[in-house]
Amino acid sequence: MPPKKQFESEAIRTQTPTTTQREHSTPLYLTSSYIFESAEQARALFANEVEGNVYSRYSNPTTDEFIEKMCKLEGAEMGVATASGMSAVFSSLAGLLNQGDHIIASRSLFGSSHQILSQILPRWGITYSYADTLNTEQWDRLVKPETKMLFLETHSNPGLDLVDLEWAGKFAKAHNLIFAVDNCFATPYLQKPVQFGADIVQHSATKFIDGQGRAIGGIIVGKKQYMQDIYFFARHSGPALSPFNAWLFSKSLETLPVRMERHCDNAEALAEYLFNHKKVNVVKYPFHKSHPQHELARKQMKRGGGIVCFEIAGGFDHAKAFIDRVEMLSRSANLGDTRTIVTHPASTTHSKLTETERAATGITPGLIRIAAGLEHIDDIIADIEQALS
Ligand SMILES: *Cc1c(COP(=O)(O)O)cnc(C)c1O
Repeated sequence: MPPKKQFESEAIRTQTPTTTQREHSTPLYLTSSYIFESAEQARALFANEVEGNVYSRYSNPTTDEFIEKMCKLEGAEMGVATASGMSAVFSSLAGLLNQGDHIIASRSLFGSSHQILSQILPRWGITYSYADTLNTEQWDRLVKPETKMLFLETHSNPGLDLVDLEWAGKFAKAHNLIFAVDNCFATPYLQKPVQFGADIVQHSATKFIDGQGRAIGGIIVGKKQYMQDIYFFARHSGPALSPFNAWLFSKSLETLPVRMERHCDNAEALAEYLFNHKKVNVVKYPFHKSHPQHELARKQMKRGGGIVCFEIAGGFDHAKAFIDRVEMLSRSANLGDTRTIVTHPASTTHSKLTETERAATGITPGLIRIAAGLEHIDDIIADIEQALS
């Protein structure tokens, strides 16, 4: 085994073997199926006696390159790539949980993850409890004999609350729970949940992994014992990632470290600018001194990430007016793009939650989420300045 390379080099140099064409950039295998050299080879492949490609719902060389890269970057043994971040979340729950099982999840979850837990899984007898991320001493009370999984998002969307991953890893181990972390906001460049005992890690590749707002996709990586069950579920239920999107994601990972550094530079500068603005009540940014968990953030994350949230003075109406007034920045619900995006969570991404659910996760009527892009910081701030005035 060659020595393990640094993150940047693994992100660039993990490639499918060069073909007879001697191409330098990794090829894209757009094929739905594969040829058998003989009837005997076909039999052996179907019997799982040998490894190899059969059909692109099961495996594809381009998708495999993306999976291998993500496994190296997260420090995981095995991965499954899926058509979206939500199919990654759903496949990992459906692949591992049985009727009657119970999940403990952090309360501030991505909107559709909340819908899966509260509307879809209960139809199959799988129940959940929400844990308050800031009161971990109360989590013991949530554990039942049928609790099988701990599912966390840290830092959360859009509250940017953190869960202490080291603590959570010990909690999961003590109660014999499968420990799952949605690491979409941080990416493996900023945070590696596996180091804190996570058994599986989910991603929406749509966000920072693609990084350019082009494609929908997802991935789950983790311990083989769990990934095999998730692979079985995905292989037969079919949320396969398109090889074309896998190719985009794999190429995008080559620039993940440089992009994340710039996302963080811009977000950090924005947090400080907003903190000093008189029309801003609260700023949320994990590495900002005003964040109640900034010490924890520094312990488990390399930098503070690309998302900044703030509460505008004047509430709902002023938040909507701000969104309408931006000129260069994009009004969109996405994040992790080269373009800076402004979102009003209460009226868009989190509008399906009840008022009480929103309040419990810190989504106030005046909360605005900024997904810092890669434009020049002076232009980003100038646009926010004119929109605030
Ligand atoms: C966007 C997102 C998802 C869902 O991903 P899709 O690719 O949109 O399906 C899941 N979790 C988090 C934290 C997200 O930001």
